[in-house]
Amino acid sequence: MVDAGTVLDGGCLCGEIRYRLTGPSLFVSQCCCKDCQKATGTGHTTIVGIHKSQLAIEGTPKTYTNSGESGGSVTRHFCGTCGGRIFTSGDMPGEFIMVQAGSLDNPSLVTPESVIYLKDAVAWDHFDPALPKFEIMQPRDNHTS
Ligand SMILES: [Zn+2]
Ligand SMILES: [Zn+2]
Repeated sequence: MVDAGTVLDGGCLCGEIRYRLTGPSLFVSQCCCKDCQKATGTGHTTIVGIHKSQLAIEGTPKTYTNSGESGGSVTRHFCGTCGGRIFTSGDMPGEFIMVQAGSLDNPSLVTPESVIYLKDAVAWDHFDPALPKFEIMQPRDNHTS
């Protein structure tokens, strides 16, 4: 969760892309889908769902678009120099985007609320047992990948 009015700064590893995110978040989830694994090289990625207008970005991220599980297009935005992932957008209602929590200057300031795409999770990845877990997406999310 990111509270309403909370302002968080972030950026890529090399600093070429910087951004400012303003709360409230719609959701904060740990996504274990295969595409997130491939795109990040990790077991899961932590995403902060916000409306597009809540992200102010400096610099021009590179993009990569493919089809999400639901068939809609999913675009990943990342730094062309260091490869750092910034956010994901796609064919999702309400024009919301998902910021990679690990790109925040202080990722500890967000609190994950759920685990999604558990069906793709790897055996060595572990999650807070208190978090609600969903085999695919959380019903109120429209996270497509
Ligand atoms: Zn960079
Ligand atoms: Zn995912």
